[in-house]
Amino acid sequence: MSADIAVVGGGVVGSAIAWRLAQAGAAVTVYDDTAAGRASTVAAGMLAPASEAQLDNPHLLRLSIAAARRWPQFAADLADQAEQTDPDDHIGYRACGTLLVAMSAADQADIDRYRDLYQREGIEIQRWDGERCRTVEPLLSHRVNAGLFAPGDHQVDPRRTLAALIRAGAAAGVRRVAEPVTNLSELKAGRVVLAAGTWSGRLAEFPIRPVHGQVLRLHAPAGDANHIGRSIRAVNRGRSVYLVPRSNGEVVVGASSHELGFDTAARVGDTVTLLRDAVDVVPELTEYRLIETNVGLRPGTPDNAPLLGPIGDGRVVVATGHFRNGILLAPITADLITRYLTTGAEPVELRTFNAERFA
Ligand SMILES: Cc1cc2nc3c(=O)[nH]c(=O)nc-3n(C[C@H](O)[C@H](O)[C@H](O)COP(=O)(O)OP(=O)(O)OC[C@H]3O[C@@H](n4cnc5c(N)ncnc54)[C@H](O)[C@@H]3O)c2cc1C
Repeated sequence: MSADIAVVGGGVVGSAIAWRLAQAGAAVTVYDDTAAGRASTVAAGMLAPASEAQLDNPHLLRLSIAAARRWPQFAADLADQAEQTDPDDHIGYRACGTLLVAMSAADQADIDRYRDLYQREGIEIQRWDGERCRTVEPLLSHRVNAGLFAPGDHQVDPRRTLAALIRAGAAAGVRRVAEPVTNLSELKAGRVVLAAGTWSGRLAEFPIRPVHGQVLRLHAPAGDANHIGRSIRAVNRGRSVYLVPRSNGEVVVGASSHELGFDTAARVGDTVTLLRDAVDVVPELTEYRLIETNVGLRPGTPDNAPLLGPIGDGRVVVATGHFRNGILLAPITADLITRYLTTGAEPVELRTFNAERFA
């Protein structure tokens, strides 16, 4: 095993890899310059292989399902290593399921597409009528027509997860350097893991593009005990909106998607659309406080699946391109890259999502 590994990028993906490598005995240094638009501190944190399914990529769907199964153990290990006791308190891991609702009969056709796919892939899903949806989630609008409940789609708080990964990494001996890397060949380490999100394309040749995503963070009024109980994804007039509630009264509303290069400015039109759609689904949100408007850059690839594994002569190992699912995929990515770097054996997933597949 190479004992001296540099990880470039300290978002959720780089920090999870660094922690797992250090646990396996490697000497690891993470370089991170905390760029504006870092996706990991903007993300909603849905761990949602079903409701975030990539309908056109069965390999990615299967990787996502495997990733979701790995999360409970990862959350427990992280709570343990970050010297915390309860994963729900400390990284906000909540096994609450996701309710996918249609706001009209026309929107129902959209969610039925998902139902067919879930059934084909053996994903557990329950079909609920509008009344059942409102019984379980009383804050839902009376307009909700029908829903699909995905009991295996959970959530985590990405900001708390990243903070816990940094703490757990430090406890395992990871060194963190708050500096940008401008050239991979200047790093002294024997092996380099390139996990710089959408900026990875500036350090090595790959087709990776920034995809601008805006979310809003709302907070329930003080003393309001009527919270949304689980993640809700709605199709409203053909548009998709999601609401991800935390146990402290925060609700993340998302998300827009545009290709605007490295621009990280929030857009008024996106704020208006997100708020209008969110309030259509849960009218009570008009009483909430608008706390933050955040923009993150998702690392997109031509097939929107990650780029994983060695490139060139093998000194550089890539772990990026996680696009809309990097929080979900961080634990499985960390385990695959750690296995590769510590044993030399290339897991089948690194061949499927080979970082040079578009070369
Ligand atoms: C609006 C939005 C909502 C999302 N919601 C979800 C969700 O619900 N569930 C989910 O699974 N995923 C979600 N995602 C996707 C997820 O956030 C990303 O896939 C994931 O965070 C990517 O993590 P990363 O560590 O690869 O990249 P990032 O978090 O972007 O981190 C990359 C890091 O590399 C650093 N860096 C870059 N260049 C250099 C350099 N040259 N030297 C040193 N450091 C460098 C940056 O400063 C940054 O800290 C969402 C994304 C967005 C934008």
